[in-house]
Formats: sequence, structure tokens, C-alpha cells
Amino acid sequence: MARLQRHRLTALFAAARHSPLYSRIIGSREPSSLRLEDMPVVGKAHLMDNFKDWVCDPSLELAELHQFLAQPDLIGQPFRDQLFVWESSGSSGAPGIFVQDAAAMTTYDTLEAVRRRIPNPLLRLFDPWGLGERMAFVGATNGHFASIVSVERLRRLSPILERTLHSVSFLQPMSKLAAELEAIQPRVIATYPSVAILLAEARASEKLDIKPQEIWTGGETLTKAMRAMISQAFSCEVINSYGASEFMSLASECRHQKLHLNSDWAILEPVDDQHQPVPPGQVGSTTLLTNLANHIQPIIRYDLGDCIAIDPVPCSCGSKLPVISVQGRSGDLLRLGEMKSGESNVSALALSTVIESIAELSDFQLIQTAPNELELNTELDGEWANDALLRARHALQSYLKDQGVHHMQICCHAGQPSTRGRNGKVKRVITLCDGGAKPARRS
Ligand SMILES: [Zn+2]
Repeated sequence: MARLQRHRLTALFAAARHSPLYSRIIGSREPSSLRLEDMPVVGKAHLMDNFKDWVCDPSLELAELHQFLAQPDLIGQPFRDQLFVWESSGSSGAPGIFVQDAAAMTTYDTLEAVRRRIPNPLLRLFDPWGLGERMAFVGATNGHFASIVSVERLRRLSPILERTLHSVSFLQPMSKLAAELEAIQPRVIATYPSVAILLAEARASEKLDIKPQEIWTGGETLTKAMRAMISQAFSCEVINSYGASEFMSLASECRHQKLHLNSDWAILEPVDDQHQPVPPGQVGSTTLLTNLANHIQPIIRYDLGDCIAIDPVPCSCGSKLPVISVQGRSGDLLRLGEMKSGESNVSALALSTVIESIAELSDFQLIQTAPNELELNTELDGEWANDALLRARHALQSYLKDQGVHHMQICCHAGQPSTRGRNGKVKRVITLCDGGAKPARRS
């Protein structure tokens, strides 16, 4: 594995010499003599501001890419025959634009096909690629986001997939979404955890009559409570994965529900605030990603913003791919309390953990509306939701008291739809205050 990784890293450095930015860094040094640690840590905002300096193809113009991305009818179509392009939502800072070459697309497709766990291998005996499966992707279908670009591209490539693979917009009333899914009767549903929760709720209250046998989740943090609720509502397996716009298929889950990093194609370095490596097993304050598959827009020691730990112990499933645990986004702080009684910075991740683990409320949105006011909403309705909100309010108040934040007002609402980002993902914790606190990102 190490040899393979090194071989691909050398190829990436050789390709990166065509980028003005990396050509200055690498100079006349041999790619095979370069170490990953010799490369600088880079961030999305700076790279996007210097896009032409970053990419390896001098003919790639940001204006032309923006023009392409502004046309929804081109979702899943190649850009200049060979390339594929998608945008990130900007839910974690500045929106990014990511161009993929043909080899990278093949790598992502193959990883998806061979590394995703199959709960019932017998079903795949005569259909190893799962081409005959009725499958629905439920998500944001209105922009060039990585997931929908991949779905539409596969549909375009194969007449079989065009019939069996469906993309369904969840930006429609549940009754319409339910009718669309009932007409498809998918065997597999692929979606975000927060959408799977909504579907589970609709299923439990008999507003949705489908019997999927697998639910694939990705794109947001899936907690234990969420997995249990989704799996129970549909009596089926929930299979989680982890990916990013910067690398589509970073990790997929084994039968022990552990995420295995595709370390032959992607390098993740969990690091501290000073970008120094943290010991195995420890969660870093951010993670650096190196994408070994894509050579047109080099992703080398790129600050991904996710808090990740790499497990030092191999998984008992037998896979040699390292196990990672993903804790969500880092760095989101809410400044709570008032100047005169003392302010405290509180982590958005901690607040969502309190709500999820203590109150067992998995579908929620916490909005800071004033320095000492929080609004806790859930899309769920009924007595159970009211009880959960009360539990969550109590847990939050006691946690905040421990943090030195007193007199916080927390208003709760059941049956309140969450505000979603452009890509349809829910930001669990949001601040509407300009108190100098950074806007909260996905948690
Ligand atoms: Zn495993």
C-alpha cells in the first residue's frame, strides 16, 4: 500500500509541475525525491482566488467554468469532452469549483463500485455491478454538485442505468416526494442523513409507502441515533460513506460499521491548529487531504476542515485500509452570553452532540438569534417531538451553565422545517448574530 501510494504521489507531483503555483514550489527537484511534508498546506479560499495559478491546464478559465455551471441542463455533461466539473455549496466557507480529469472519474466510479459494502452478495451474483438495481438518489438536483453530477453522468453513459437510476429532488413537498418515490419503488436509496431522517419519519407515520432494502447515506454526519431511527423505520440496513467535493469516495463502511479510508487513492493527515500531525487515534482540529487520482487541479495537503481521527488498530473485518472516524466540521464557535455578564465561546459541534446524545433528538436545527437567545427547531411533530425538545432544552441549559453561560433563553418549535444550504444539506447549528463569532458550519 505504501509503495502504491508513493508511486501515485510521485505521479501527482510530476503532473503538478504544470501548475504555476506548484512549479514554483517544486522547481527543478525530481518528483520522486519530494516528500509530502515538503508541500505547503493550502486552503480553498486562497486557491479559488488564484485559480489560474492553481490548475495544471492554462486554458482553464474561471469565467468559462462559471458559465458552464450556471446552466442546469448541463448537469452531468462533460466539460470540453473529457473533463467533469462540479461546485461545492459554500456551506463551509467560500464555494469551490473542482475540475476532474477522465482518470479521476474512473477512479471514483471504481471505488464506488468495488469498495461499497454489499449486504446481500447473493443478489449480486449475476449482476456484479448492480446495474439492474432500482435506485433513487434523493438530494439537491438543481445545481452542479458532485453527487448529482455523478448520478446524471452515469445515467448518460448507460441505457440500463438511465432506466434504473433515478434522481429525485427533495426540494418539494413531502407528499410529492413520497408519490415520486412510490412510483419508483427503489431497492436502494442514496441520500443525506438528514433527508433519510425525514423519509423515515414519513414512513413511520404511513405517509410514504416504499420498502427499500438498503439506504446509503453520505455528505453529512450520521450519528448512532440517526442510523437507528432510519434503519428501524424501513427495517433495512443503513450503509454510510464519507466523501467530499475534493475527493468523491474517501471512505466506505465495512460490516462492522467502520469507515475505511481509500488510502491507496487519498491521503488524509489529521493535524492540530499549527498543522502539525496529531498521533494516531487522536482527533485533529482539521485534516489535510491529498487526492492521488486527479491531475488537472492538484489537491495537495488541502485543508478540508473536517475533524478526523485515524484508528491505530486494524479493523477486525480484515480490511487493510485504515479506519477513520469523522467528527464533522471544526472551528465553528458561537459567542454566547452578553458583554456585561460575560461571553463564552461554545463549540457548535459540542452543542449538537449534547442535543443528539443526551436528548436523542437527531433531526434539529439550533439557531442563535441574539447573544442570549437560541431557537431549537425540529421538523418532527407530535408528542414525541415535544418531549425530545424539552429534554434537549434541559440538556442545553445545563451544558451551557457548565460553560459559564447563564440566562440563555431557548425557544423550541416542533414541526418547523430546517433551513438548508444551496446543496440541500442542513446546517445543524447556525448563528444569525454578528458578534464577531464565525458563522457556524455543518456540524
Ligand atoms: Zn472494517
